[in-house]
Amino acid sequence: MPLPPLKLLSNRHVTVDFHRTRDRGFIVVPMTFTRREFAKLGALGFAARFAPPLFAQTTQRQTGYAIIGLGRIADIFMRGVKDSPNSKVTALVSGHRDKALRIAADYGVPESSIYSYDDFDSIVSNKTVDAVYVALPNSMHADFTIRAAKAGKHVLCEKPMAINVGECESMIAACKSASVKLMIAYRCHYESTNLKAVDLIRSGALGQVQAIETAFGFNERAGEWRLDKKLSGGGPLVDVGIYSLNATRYLTGEEPVSFSAFSSVIDQDGRFTSVEENLSWTMKFPSGVVASCATTYGGWMGGFFKVHGAKGWIDADPAFNYDGLHLHAQYSTDVGEFPHTVVDEANPQKNPYQFTAQANHFSNCIQNNLEPKTPGEEGLRDMSYITEIYRAAGISML
Ligand code: NDP
Repeated sequence: MPLPPLKLLSNRHVTVDFHRTRDRGFIVVPMTFTRREFAKLGALGFAARFAPPLFAQTTQRQTGYAIIGLGRIADIFMRGVKDSPNSKVTALVSGHRDKALRIAADYGVPESSIYSYDDFDSIVSNKTVDAVYVALPNSMHADFTIRAAKAGKHVLCEKPMAINVGECESMIAACKSASVKLMIAYRCHYESTNLKAVDLIRSGALGQVQAIETAFGFNERAGEWRLDKKLSGGGPLVDVGIYSLNATRYLTGEEPVSFSAFSSVIDQDGRFTSVEENLSWTMKFPSGVVASCATTYGGWMGGFFKVHGAKGWIDADPAFNYDGLHLHAQYSTDVGEFPHTVVDEANPQKNPYQFTAQANHFSNCIQNNLEPKTPGEEGLRDMSYITEIYRAAGISML
């Protein structure tokens, strides 16, 4: 597979003009690498992953999505779909028809393709809908995923996959029995800064990873469904802590085996009567790597990860935002040598690029009968670790 075009900026730097791809969404930018870094990444297959796939010239099919729940993330996803060559919004499912009518006009969705939650099942006969995007409060994910599967529609479901392991298993079983695909919307798996961090670690640039630090949290407003356990299934851990949890797994390529955790409520202002305010936890991986993680709904905790290895470190900060991601790294060629190679890469891509990438990937999986990179089993694994973390913190789940 040919590599994308290169421009020599200087003896040390190479710019790669990556083109939009239809599968993994490893789109975009010009990115600048040192020549040494690019050669190394190329040898590892990194550059090839950015190259246009072979089928790029052969298909322009657009997978039609029904958007379920027209809230904040649905708005960003729909804007992402607008930029996708192989995806299209074709139906809306909402409890607010007036809002749905307004959005339908923006996306060219006919009135006949607007559904309520009650009449959703009649979507089975809508041939313009190949897949659904579930963007509802967490406790509604399982129900709508299973109903969509029964209607023969593929499912792209927001994180967290559901509110407990049993629900995740039912969702996987329903999609398997209906022979439809299930993908969990872990956007960082389709995002180039996160992927570069993974590639640097896998290339051995950091040597043996020893420890990870990661956090993500924000100050949640009173009255949000996220603070109601019946709708959310949990507090910041299931909402944003899950980014840190998932990152420790894709960064190490390992599954955690031991867990310890503490939670607390500092602000006695009525917001934290059913979910935790703060949760800090550690996880040990089979290699011995220990990850120290934190999340909160009581303060502004920028989403980042730091990976410390024998030959150097990586710091992605921010790592989980919709855009503006930044990767720093410093590493040496030998253990014992002070880190000297410096990576300092600001990602210029703009929101909603991660959502376009996700849609590109899932639509490509549907059109070419491929397994999504983040299938239901990935969401199930995180849910089982969330269960362990809550257990360690003495918090019960629904
Ligand atoms: P919002 O509150 O903004 O939107 C949720 C939508 O769900 C509402 O607008 C509403 O749509 C519908 N809904 C149906 N029943 C209820 C109910 N009882 N209470 C509230 N809303 C209801 O939430 P978000 O968009 O922020 O989150 C939705 C999902 O997306 C969550 O699972 C969340 O974890 C995930 N998420 C993912 C992100 C990511 O980066 N991948 C970022 C943010 C959220 P309508 O009015 O049309 O009926």
